[in-house]
Amino acid sequence: MTHYDYIVVGSGIAGLFAALQAREHGSVLILTKGSIDECNTRYAQGGIAAPVGVGDSPRLHLEDTIAAGAGLVDLEAARVLTEEAADRIHDLVSFGVPFDTLDGEITLGREGAHSLPRILHAGGDATGAHIELTLSSVARMSRITILEHCLTSRLLVSDGVLEGVEALDCRTNTKLEFGCRFLVLATGGAGQLFKISTNPTVATGDGVALAYRAGAEIADMEFFQFHPTVLRMPGVAPFLISEAVRGEGGILSDAEGRAFMAEQHPQADLAPRDVVARAILAQMEASGTDHVFLDVTHLAPSRVTSRFPQIYRFCLDHSLDITRQPIPVSPAAHYMMGGVRTNVWGETNIRRLFACGEVACTGVHGANRLASNSLLETVVFGRRVVERSSASGGPSATEPTSDAIALSEAVPAEVSPLDLGALQTLMWEKVGIVRDGGSLSQAKALLAGWQATLPTASDRPSHELSSLITCARLMTEAALLRAESRGAHYRADFPEPREEWRRHIVFRRHA
Ligand SMILES: Cc1cc2nc3c(=O)[nH]c(=O)nc-3n(C[C@H](O)[C@H](O)[C@H](O)COP(=O)(O)OP(=O)(O)OC[C@H]3O[C@@H](n4cnc5c(N)ncnc54)[C@H](O)[C@@H]3O)c2cc1C
Repeated sequence: MTHYDYIVVGSGIAGLFAALQAREHGSVLILTKGSIDECNTRYAQGGIAAPVGVGDSPRLHLEDTIAAGAGLVDLEAARVLTEEAADRIHDLVSFGVPFDTLDGEITLGREGAHSLPRILHAGGDATGAHIELTLSSVARMSRITILEHCLTSRLLVSDGVLEGVEALDCRTNTKLEFGCRFLVLATGGAGQLFKISTNPTVATGDGVALAYRAGAEIADMEFFQFHPTVLRMPGVAPFLISEAVRGEGGILSDAEGRAFMAEQHPQADLAPRDVVARAILAQMEASGTDHVFLDVTHLAPSRVTSRFPQIYRFCLDHSLDITRQPIPVSPAAHYMMGGVRTNVWGETNIRRLFACGEVACTGVHGANRLASNSLLETVVFGRRVVERSSASGGPSATEPTSDAIALSEAVPAEVSPLDLGALQTLMWEKVGIVRDGGSLSQAKALLAGWQATLPTASDRPSHELSSLITCARLMTEAALLRAESRGAHYRADFPEPREEWRRHIVFRRHA
């Protein structure tokens, strides 16, 4: 078995950034299940938040992060996030990320629930693509071994210590094994759980499923953010219309052109994402349509085309000139706030197993993520993972959560046939933007039945489906337990937050 100091699973911003730090401390292998740049990172549009503008401060950024998180933000993690933000932006600039500038100064955009402009962007709305391409080219030119089309299928853990991974070469379906001193899970999110999603096909929650099976703790899975605005046109795959469009003055309106957000929230179109997503859903249900409109026709066309070149071009390719016509939009599944529970060093409850990026639950997002804090989280904690693991004495592990629970037993039952489409429809309809006890109970039973009948995974699609089922069960069972509404988790039968639920739901498999 080949042995490395570090194995990093995933080649989005979290994996690449951690790998680039780790190369200073030993041999590094990156395993990624598609080609190197197939990841959520590449699609990020709006940008990365950091309190670097005039009049801004880590304190103000912290306050906005806490307010968005609806009572569940981990204060220490959020303090680390906002205090280390400027240094990590500096690192990205050093790697060559070309953030947009005006007269030599980095330009800052504004996004929902941020009290000041603090969003750095690159290529207008192509921030993620620039970051991904920059970091992947630096990684390719350095002494890092990169295995593409290589899916991590099992974490090898012995006596609570991570020892290596089992992997699948997706091109030949052959099994491989690698040993390591430290494993960094950076497998991203699980947007493929839902029928309408902004996430690419690689976002199948593998890291959460791998970690849960290996005995790691999984937290906050009931909190999944739905982005309020993706382009909704017949025959066109959901395409994100960045929040920054509303930050620049875009206005949500109904079919009659009536703006509706001002009556819903003091921050109107820039209200927190869950508020905007539910308001849009209510408008759609009231009018019996599958979209509302986002209007930027009142803005100067040159401003729209220079700030949002990618969105402008994509819409134009589908015969929609957004400088003249309102954009049909609807909500879509977007970001997983929960994940593998870590401390502020990315450590999990399994020694030598670390997690960073969207797969991790550091607690910085609480029940709802502040826009553009996710790219920031990947680099702040990606760096900390390496700082901790490389320090003399080596890593410890987080204390086990005393009231962690296991998933319910998966008992074989007569269930409808399982395929990816059936799972995505179930999750969208029963565990989506608005849930209730009845819909969640139905989903819980069906998911348990599906899990019990899953054949042994042997190729990439079957491994991914198995991961998605595990994630779906964690999300559904947590959402059913949480008898309240908080942040991105909205229960029609419990529409208010309840003080006794100001706590986390943590899962850990029974040994
Ligand atoms: C359309 C869109 C727009 C967004 N806009 C913004 C924004 O403007 N600002 C912001 O802060 N955030 C934004 N986000 C969220 C942000 O992009 C992600 O949270 C972030 O990029 C996650 O980075 P990551 O490295 O953790 O995961 P990813 O970039 O998703 O990378 C995960 C990697 O893991 C690999 N992988 C997964 N499973 C396995 C396995 N079993 N074996 C091997 N490899 C595996 C994948 O192939 C991939 O390479 C956006 C997301 C989307 C989808």
